[in-house]
Amino acid sequence: MKTRVIIVGGGTAGWITAGIIAAQHCTENSLTQTTEVVLVESPDVKNLGVGEGTWPTMRDTLRQIGISERTFLSCCDASFKQASKFVAWSEGKKEHYYHPFTAPAGYGSVSIAEHWSATHRDIDFESWVCAQGTTCKQNLAPKTSKMPEYAFALNYGYHLNAGKFVKMLHQHCVEKLGVQYIQGHVEHVLPAENGDIASIVLVSGEHIDGDLFIDCSGFSAILIGKHYEIPFKSKQHILFNDTALALQVDHASDEVPIASCTVATAQKSGWVWDISLQNRRGIGHVFSSDFSDVEQAEEALFKYVQNDPLLASQQLSPRKIKFTPGHRETFWHKNCVAIGVSAGFVEPLEATALVLIEKSAEWISQQLPRERSAMTVLAKRFNLLTLQRWQEIIDFLKLHYVLTNREDSEYWRAHQQPDSIPESLQDALTLWRTQAPGLYESNQRFELFSSASKQYVLYGMGFHTAREQGVLGRQETSMVKRLRNETLHNTEKLLSALPTNREFLNGLKKV
Ligand SMILES: Cc1cc2nc3c(=O)[nH]c(=O)nc-3n(C[C@H](O)[C@H](O)[C@H](O)COP(=O)(O)OP(=O)(O)OC[C@H]3O[C@@H](n4cnc5c(N)ncnc54)[C@H](O)[C@@H]3O)c2cc1C
Repeated sequence: MKTRVIIVGGGTAGWITAGIIAAQHCTENSLTQTTEVVLVESPDVKNLGVGEGTWPTMRDTLRQIGISERTFLSCCDASFKQASKFVAWSEGKKEHYYHPFTAPAGYGSVSIAEHWSATHRDIDFESWVCAQGTTCKQNLAPKTSKMPEYAFALNYGYHLNAGKFVKMLHQHCVEKLGVQYIQGHVEHVLPAENGDIASIVLVSGEHIDGDLFIDCSGFSAILIGKHYEIPFKSKQHILFNDTALALQVDHASDEVPIASCTVATAQKSGWVWDISLQNRRGIGHVFSSDFSDVEQAEEALFKYVQNDPLLASQQLSPRKIKFTPGHRETFWHKNCVAIGVSAGFVEPLEATALVLIEKSAEWISQQLPRERSAMTVLAKRFNLLTLQRWQEIIDFLKLHYVLTNREDSEYWRAHQQPDSIPESLQDALTLWRTQAPGLYESNQRFELFSSASKQYVLYGMGFHTAREQGVLGRQETSMVKRLRNETLHNTEKLLSALPTNREFLNGLKKV
């Protein structure tokens, strides 16, 4: 008997999920194949079309699905993302710090953060422990063109055109992985006696039955929300942003530098994202409608764009996207599991949405239930894990806001109010005042944010961990010295060896 997996929704969540499951379970021989993957997409509801920054996990996802990096980079106008650069988050001026994808030198064997804290606080943390921020400043690629696909000198993810990404995944999943595609608007659900979904019914009247239904229908949440009415938990009291204005602006020419990082520039009531692709930049302002009206937000966005000589001058008409930051109370109910925006969305900071889609789809694919009885057990486990991940995401994003010294607007003052800070984050901050986040930070096997990420944000924002000089042992101190020399040496080597992003990506077009 074949397991029929029905995915509702053809946005990034739907196609990534289809690709991951089909690549693992749908062999080329249809006689021996044990799983069928069907994706149903409404012709009437557009997908989000934003979501252009990924984590390094996307390299594994693409490889796993069977897409060549070269094809991906050309089909999706993609570029390399090596870090997030935060501008004006602590003082509201031009100060900045990097959160790179490469961990600090010696990560896992020695707490270089504590040594830095005790001895070198006058130098910025990231450049003291890692080469990546320095190479980002020069817009360098994370690899040379001679290196194999997906290999790297510096860890990286991507910036991509979300519309083209969906098109590429669609074609690959249908042509190479045997995913069946049905265009049709799901109107309602036919329940089975045990409360499961027996089939979904399209506007055309067609019934599609299945064993496992994956709701990737975005804000419509047609199965998890409309059918099952699983409550949505707003987190707006913690993360205030609820509106985005999104623009796509061409580069002034096809020779302008392509940045190696997502630039997040803090504003009075939110922040502006800036993502550089091969041919254009995706720029948008995400803000809280409790603290700013749309006109003020638009003005800040236009000012950001109009001040930049590297952008072509053009008519600016941003797309407005409203959302409530939060997530479902549970994610897997009966034989239905939600992935992507139908499960939740908080805000674009640190690009946590696509990685959660990848991780959720991977988990489901690895544990694909063989019997109905297994599904109930797996659902419990998935719900527990996913809830922990949401809590982790919310704490980590809030961390970016609570450490600010900004007092210039109600928005930033409100972010520092203790009643807006989850207890788990308050506890962590208490601990981090006495010791740097380390390997024992989390008991979770599947944590999203390593303690390295926490260190970059904490010390980038000027947080103080009270470690006195001399507290570290002699052996540890000499190891740190060696690591520091290695970082300096490595930085020099990379600066002279790596091409710029522009050179690397333009080079792909020539071959
Ligand atoms: C402003 C903004 C910026 C973002 N930036 C990032 C980022 O940099 N990095 C990141 O990781 N994430 C980012 N995200 C999140 C990211 O965009 C989403 O996680 C991603 O696009 C996945 O969306 P989705 O597939 O869940 O939903 P959608 O893209 O909305 O797709 C929903 C699909 O469901 C279908 N559908 C809806 N109703 C029905 C129905 N009744 N019947 C059949 N089909 C139906 C639609 O046709 C569509 O195909 C951002 C989000 C926003 C709002």
